[in-house]
Amino acid sequence: MNLYSTNNTALNVSFKEAVFNSMPQDKGLYMPVAINPLPQEFIANLDQYTLPEIAFTVAKHMLAGAIPDADLKALIDDAINFEAPVVELEENVYVLELFHGPSLAFKDFGARFMSRVMGYFLEAGEKQLDVLVATSGDTGGAVALGFLGVPNTRVTILYPKGKVSDIQELQLTTNGQNIRALEVDGTFDDCQALVKQAFTDAQLNEAFRLTSANSINIARLIPQTFYYFNAYAQLLKQGKSKVVFAVPSGNFGNIGAGLLAWKMGLPVQQFIAATNANDTVPEFLKTGVYQPKPTVATLSNAMDVSSPSNWVRIADLFKNDTAELKKLITGYSFNDEDTVKAIVKIFGAYKYVACPHTAIAWLALTDWLDKQDDDVTGVFLSTAHPCKFPDVFPEQIGKAVEVPAQVKTLQEKPRLATPLKADFNEFKSYLLNN
Ligand SMILES: *Cc1c(COP(=O)(O)O)cnc(C)c1O
Repeated sequence: MNLYSTNNTALNVSFKEAVFNSMPQDKGLYMPVAINPLPQEFIANLDQYTLPEIAFTVAKHMLAGAIPDADLKALIDDAINFEAPVVELEENVYVLELFHGPSLAFKDFGARFMSRVMGYFLEAGEKQLDVLVATSGDTGGAVALGFLGVPNTRVTILYPKGKVSDIQELQLTTNGQNIRALEVDGTFDDCQALVKQAFTDAQLNEAFRLTSANSINIARLIPQTFYYFNAYAQLLKQGKSKVVFAVPSGNFGNIGAGLLAWKMGLPVQQFIAATNANDTVPEFLKTGVYQPKPTVATLSNAMDVSSPSNWVRIADLFKNDTAELKKLITGYSFNDEDTVKAIVKIFGAYKYVACPHTAIAWLALTDWLDKQDDDVTGVFLSTAHPCKFPDVFPEQIGKAVEVPAQVKTLQEKPRLATPLKADFNEFKSYLLNN
């Protein structure tokens, strides 16, 4: 597999190089040189395969020899060891549950695959890989649990004190082993600024082999294509083949992966991009003007992004042809009031508790479906387990949220976090002395 930069199509790097660099020097994003369709026979018979089988076939097709088959198979079986069920809520409305991994969010797909790919490419005797990650909640947990115990790697997580939920904090601070957590007296932006500065610091780069685990890494995108194929497979089993996906979107990595799957031949009728009040993309789809506004804080805080980093990849997939892009992608945005109302409505209608991000995708899907007279099947993606966002729910609904077993295990473990001021010199000396 070779990759170019969205800023320089002449660039040509290996998968290994793209994984370790995360981002090309020219600040574009890596894109596969070739995105070929999968064999028609595979697509038509998807219902015959399990999730690990689908994941292996798709990854092998994309990586085209970058990892030998037997190693890739073992890596995938280890990384994708949980389910991604499609659950029927009513006729032709399904929820794709992506929260059955260790951190209870879809980011487990990307983080577990990427950590194992990095571990695989680290050769014997190579310098330890130091992953620095700033998190507002979900990313840190997925990255921490993804890298936990991966040899020759170490993860340092920076999270804003008092600004992550209790379960998120447990996932960040109870790991031990090769994971350490820094509780920063500041905001998520402060955490991100510290990490960014570390990457440009000569002394730190001399001392450590630093890498970021953020969502622009191509190794996070690839495994997210697997569950689109797998969802389609589950619907095929029920005789349904006209499918649309509604995706709650922040950095647009998740929907970007869906579009990669489409480019590889998955016959999706429409992608519905659902955002919160940070509506840069829905506004662009409506007006043709791409104009990020300052980010606003919302209840669906994992989507509080006004400059979605993966958008350039999506534009690149369509060769910047906005008219073509608009045929396949519809945009919606909803505010916090809509979100809470949707949570109440979903619970009332189906006794189903949706996290705030998931509820936004449901709103977009139901509005879109209402305008169709076709017999089309709608799937909205559930990106996180509701127990990660307990403060959002009205009391009666909150009581109905079941806390999964893996969280109960964490509650018995000690929390370990080092307090840190939002100060680069303090962060630097922590890194150099620990
Ligand atoms: C990260 C996240 C999103 C946004 O996904 P993108 O790939 O950034 O668009 C949505 N919901 C939850 C729960 C998340 O953690």
